[in-house]
Amino acid sequence: MNEYLKQYIELQKQFRETKGDQDSVRALYAFKEKLELLEDKQAKEVLVDVYDLLDFKKDAYELLCQIGNRSDKKTLKRLGTLKDYAENWGNHYALPKPKTPKEKQKEKERQSQLGMPTFRYHPNPLDTGAFEKSKEGVVCDCCGKITHIYYTAPFFSVENIEYLCPECIASGEAGRKYNGSFQDDFSLDDGVDDSEKLDELIHRTPGYSGWQQEYWRAHCGDYCAYLGKVGVREMRALGVLEEVLDDPMWDDEQKEMIRESVNGGHLQCYLFRCLHCGKHLVWMDFD
Ligand SMILES: [Zn+2]
Ligand SMILES: [Zn+2]
Repeated sequence: MNEYLKQYIELQKQFRETKGDQDSVRALYAFKEKLELLEDKQAKEVLVDVYDLLDFKKDAYELLCQIGNRSDKKTLKRLGTLKDYAENWGNHYALPKPKTPKEKQKEKERQSQLGMPTFRYHPNPLDTGAFEKSKEGVVCDCCGKITHIYYTAPFFSVENIEYLCPECIASGEAGRKYNGSFQDDFSLDDGVDDSEKLDELIHRTPGYSGWQQEYWRAHCGDYCAYLGKVGVREMRALGVLEEVLDDPMWDDEQKEMIRESVNGGHLQCYLFRCLHCGKHLVWMDFD
């Protein structure tokens, strides 16, 4: 057995035994990044397995296409399976790399360079898909200026608005001009006793797109920050599953559903974090 394969088996074991905790995912990412720099055929073969395990299905398929021996029946079969996943999923559901505090800081800097204002209740709206980037730029309906990032999540207004820039959301201008909101004020947790906070959430914060009616969680007397879509694997990798399950919102049956959720599956979980105590909570719905 070659060195790469040996190392992979060890990392895979750690990943399975810890059910994919933060350290095991981080170790797999470090291994992946090391293998990606090597030209060695054996390293590339193992890299296919690493991609597959982390659900980079498109990368796994494309690499196996390059290096796989098509006269080998096992390889052909695997190519077939990976092709289906690659076409349906791409790399879209790859397990995210747990970020270090340094990486988080870099991320913040990148966002402000792009002209993304700070949204208290939605800190990474590019990662969550609430905004998309446009190389050529589009014209914001509200201010008429060209923007290279535009809003894609729900905006509830009578007029049909095509493009909004982040600045018009943050300033409240879009909400005012179109008498619109980004989150339904009936679809929120109770317990926030401050109309300024409600105003910021529904009129000045980008929303998110759920399968059904979006719902915003609250904790410690304030609305939570929305972090994005997750399944149980992502919650384990972030080390937050136990916290999420410790929530009077969910009964035993619902907790079981959270334990079985798959990101992008029929039952989708949406992750939030309390801005005050740091606790993580989810909302969930069905397609
Ligand atoms: Zn604008
Ligand atoms: Zn809290």
